[in-house]
Amino acid sequence: MTGRGKVIGGLRVEVPEIPVVEEVSLPADRTALIIVDMQNDFVKPGGALRVPSAEKTIGPIRLLLERARRSGVLTIFTQDTHYMDDPEFRIWGRHVVKGTWGWRIIDELAPVEGEIVVEKTRYDGFYGTPIDDLLRVNGVENVVVVGTVANICVLHTASSAALRWYRVYMPLDGISALNDFDYYLTLRQVSFLYRGVLVERSEGIRFTGQGKWVRPGYSGGSGAGSAGV
Ligand code: ZN
Repeated sequence: MTGRGKVIGGLRVEVPEIPVVEEVSLPADRTALIIVDMQNDFVKPGGALRVPSAEKTIGPIRLLLERARRSGVLTIFTQDTHYMDDPEFRIWGRHVVKGTWGWRIIDELAPVEGEIVVEKTRYDGFYGTPIDDLLRVNGVENVVVVGTVANICVLHTASSAALRWYRVYMPLDGISALNDFDYYLTLRQVSFLYRGVLVERSEGIRFTGQGKWVRPGYSGGSGAGSAGV
């Protein structure tokens, strides 16, 4: 690979029709929320690999997280994690080095006790991690996947879930990409190839019943999950 070949760019392509639903209700005890890589380096000004549109997704993701907390829904945060001289640095430069500010999950979405943080070294949240095992032993059938970067870690994680026959749900306002092409190709792949369900807004995703993942220290809701959200 000399990198001196022809370059394709600037083509106008059409986004095919992609079905989107307004609302879904998912059973709290058979659903997991997976929040992908919402770390300072990817989200915040000054971050090493910032996706500018990621900041807009914080509110919608937070809303889902609060609903998951109130309904006892299993919640997993993936945390992209690299060490010295990681081979990925040759592609992306240094980012999310363990222990640094850039590696930490953003304050607005900081995990609380009762939530699981899974460190991962590659785009796919299932690769070399216990996520599949965690979902399986907890009887999860549906995964709501949000976070960044849409066509990179979000798509690889959603794909990996779908290949294992988990049903994928993805709200349009819960993912972010560096450009529109990357954003829409993510939606197309999730919908067309993986038969996931795209939901117009995070607000349209509700959890029914009560899951077992209570957050001992969390007082965001008004009691035990029956707040009607
Ligand atoms: Zn990385």
